[in-house]
Amino acid sequence: MAVFGRCFYVCLKSWMAMNSRCLQRWLGLFGQVEIKSSMLILPTILKCLLPAPDYNEYALKVFSGKAGSVGLSASAWMKPPPSVLKINTDAAVFRSVHGDLIKLRKFVEEDGASLSLPDANGYYALQWAALNNFPNIVQYIIEHGGDVNATDLSRQTALHWAAVRGSIVVADLLLQNGARVEASDANGYRAVHVAAQYGQTAFLNHIIAKYNADFDAPDNDGRSPLHWAAYKGFADTIRLLLFRDANQGRQDKEGCTPLHWAVLRGHVEACSILVHAGTKEELLVKDKAGFTPIQLAYDKGHRHVALLLSKLQRAHNKSLKGTFFTGKIVGSGYAPFLFCTIFCCMILFINSVLLAPSLAKVTAAVALWGWTAVTLCIFALIMFYRCSSKDPGYVKRSDNSGDLRKAQDPLLNLDMIDSSVWTGNWSQLCPTCKIIRPPRSKHCPTCKHCIEQFDHHCPWISNCVGKRNKWDFFVFLCLGTATSSISGVIAVLRIWTAVPAIPTSETWTHYVITHYYGVTVFLVINFLIFVSATTLAVAQTSQIARNITTNELANASRYSYLRGPDGKFRNPYNHGCKKNCGDFLIQGYTDDNEVPWLPLHAVAR
Ligand SMILES: [Zn+2]
Ligand SMILES: [Zn+2]
Repeated sequence: MAVFGRCFYVCLKSWMAMNSRCLQRWLGLFGQVEIKSSMLILPTILKCLLPAPDYNEYALKVFSGKAGSVGLSASAWMKPPPSVLKINTDAAVFRSVHGDLIKLRKFVEEDGASLSLPDANGYYALQWAALNNFPNIVQYIIEHGGDVNATDLSRQTALHWAAVRGSIVVADLLLQNGARVEASDANGYRAVHVAAQYGQTAFLNHIIAKYNADFDAPDNDGRSPLHWAAYKGFADTIRLLLFRDANQGRQDKEGCTPLHWAVLRGHVEACSILVHAGTKEELLVKDKAGFTPIQLAYDKGHRHVALLLSKLQRAHNKSLKGTFFTGKIVGSGYAPFLFCTIFCCMILFINSVLLAPSLAKVTAAVALWGWTAVTLCIFALIMFYRCSSKDPGYVKRSDNSGDLRKAQDPLLNLDMIDSSVWTGNWSQLCPTCKIIRPPRSKHCPTCKHCIEQFDHHCPWISNCVGKRNKWDFFVFLCLGTATSSISGVIAVLRIWTAVPAIPTSETWTHYVITHYYGVTVFLVINFLIFVSATTLAVAQTSQIARNITTNELANASRYSYLRGPDGKFRNPYNHGCKKNCGDFLIQGYTDDNEVPWLPLHAVAR
């Protein structure tokens, strides 16, 4: 059995070596990292699963009390001959892989196995303990002669391996015992690169904040951690790096920016974060093959990315044109246009419907309803002005001036500062405003601000709808619906009673259009306003009742806070229709208190 296992191990190892050479040739540029990761993980699996190497068999026999069966006496254990020493080292490495401190201690202290020597493959016990996140073993190895800066054949240190798993405690132990945070391997990867390649955002933040690791350092190919995070599509890691002002325009040896790499792999969210935080220049940078990110997206067939980038480029061009040619009107959205339309509509209603000389004198009931509609319209215009000009809930920078260290690095101890805001979600970092925002806030690229309880950016009011102006927006919609429905009904009634017997050759509609221009124009505009206001009012009512925003509904699959532990959609802010509506109508907004999960036994009942 052991012979068979050994043969299988040798075959698999040679297959891996062969494949890594082929893959490196065929996968090209990024083959290195894919192979690198498999080479890190595979030996672990092999060591755990296969009975092949001598040390496994040897160590297992020793620890199961069968030392005698391999022909060694107790005295031989105390002083192993030089040939056995290598085997002992491998056995110690083996114990580090499995986190077996008691047996490792026994093995080192009684058997004299060295922890400063590599195993048969050139790896150190410290590396395996770091990769498998065993802080107690790491501590033990460091105390018993393990070198924190020892490198394997690819010049990786234990810190590189800790970065793969994102073990912060292990990294602290290594760095506090003299490990070099900037140690680079044969590819020029430092711990920051490895953390970015594996999406270990918390680890990356920790070594940057606490040990001043250089997050913009290039590897041998000129790629920074931001290049790697973009290539792998780790949105949170990208947010962190941009938050820390990582250089977004850096080009590697191929002339590619991080955006090029995100586009190449078709990561829509990564591209979106990069372009919103960047400038127009990044969209126009060409790589050495002469491709801009947009051309690359079309070339690789990533339609969603291509559409996103084209839209943003158009927006950039438009905003430039707006500044030069049309001044403020285009820049401020359609609010002035809508305001004038509603106002003109109201004047038209008074002149052509209520006080029109061609129509009969209004009855008392019609006059009452008609002037009520006019009054509601005036209130609607006031609410329109309010929600359009009000602060929709801009997230302010937290004032850290009292503590210099915190002010220098707001991410140093995230769980300790701003605990009211920080919920451990990396999407709370805004790479553009450089603030830590409450969980339901989003950045609006048009307003260039983060908005609390961001609902949507409404071009018709030229403002965002958020926590502070949602009530005004909702009241405006309700008034709009009421005004347009009342005035519409009155206009139709007024014509219906005014039109005399129509000749058979003419239809009623044709007669009204040709004889009452003013009323016809009013009815058309009023109908459009009625449809839009009613649709929006119904949508908003349903969302208020569920305490969810338009943005959250549209992007539910992207937001982790809208998913329960079972991975299905769950809105943690839904306190029930009654409380949601009550809070909104009384306070003007709903609180962001999360509803706790019911205990499992309660769910089962
Ligand atoms: Zn922002
Ligand atoms: Zn906005």
